[in-house]
Amino acid sequence: MSRPAVDTWLYPTPAGLYCEPGQFYIDPSRSIERAVITHGHSDHARSGHGAVLATAQTIAIMKVRYGQACAGTFDPVRLGEHRSINGVTVTLVPAGHILGSAQVVLDWAGRRAVISGDYKRAGDPTCEPFELVTCDVFVTEATFALPVFRHEKAEHEVQRLLASMAAESGRTHLIGAYGLGKCQRVIKLIREAGYDKPIYLHGAHMALSELYIELGIDLGDIRPATVADTKDLSGGIVLCPPSALNDRWARRFGDPVTSFASGWMRVRGRARQYGIELPLVISDHADWPELIETIEQTEAEDVWVTHGRDDALIHHLATKGRKARALALVGRDEEAE
Ligand SMILES: [Zn+2]
Ligand SMILES: [Zn+2]
Repeated sequence: MSRPAVDTWLYPTPAGLYCEPGQFYIDPSRSIERAVITHGHSDHARSGHGAVLATAQTIAIMKVRYGQACAGTFDPVRLGEHRSINGVTVTLVPAGHILGSAQVVLDWAGRRAVISGDYKRAGDPTCEPFELVTCDVFVTEATFALPVFRHEKAEHEVQRLLASMAAESGRTHLIGAYGLGKCQRVIKLIREAGYDKPIYLHGAHMALSELYIELGIDLGDIRPATVADTKDLSGGIVLCPPSALNDRWARRFGDPVTSFASGWMRVRGRARQYGIELPLVISDHADWPELIETIEQTEAEDVWVTHGRDDALIHHLATKGRKARALALVGRDEEAE
């Protein structure tokens, strides 16, 4: 039996990465008939598809963000379960990125492609750990694909937060965190570090955090910051969207310690630009060493690189004798992280 090269049956189109024999797209950027979705972030999961195959958690996240009727039909699959779509075997395996996040494994005509979506290898108490699958083609993200990006251990960054709270006990710690994944991971890490007082959230962070709790991730006592008495907040922790840090909304906290939990905080200029007093380098994406190691371990003969700094990674892989190319996909911006 002939084994046609993966790029003859899986390729980028204006609507996104398309699997021709399966007649479905992975994380399409516009509404299409049949979509396989890696995870709930808005540059991967969009509303308006005919049919959506994803993990039950990703489907639940999509419904909270876009409404119950955000797709024609939903087909929830368990991690590790095999589905055949027009003869293509589709398997979702954990990506370790956020709750429900999955890599899409496609097996067809004796070849295998793995579309990682977004992923990280570092531990995360809010989702299943990344599972390595060897393959012929590995589609990798490249959000932090420069050697300068080496994330800290998230637990270590949370210890720095608690130390700052002890040192600045009268001031509110206002932490900017992306609303899906990062916010809940930071809360969970703070809980694991032993902090059990209420944690206050910007209104925009409540619905998804409540969904995490509903889906079994215990975040302890979380409350909306907007209805809380400001004196309860002094000396406490408030999480908000990064954009709210320098917003009028933030003025109610008097003289807060502003913080931002993001992989971008590795870059001092970025922390300065946002006026961040306490940058926390906590990322839900693989850093440079993790990207290199993961690609190596997949044993893929061909690596396709999506959103981010594809040239540095492609150049590095070329020096290691590995075939790599940029996969220009529409609608993949620098990940809000
Ligand atoms: Zn993502
Ligand atoms: Zn992404």
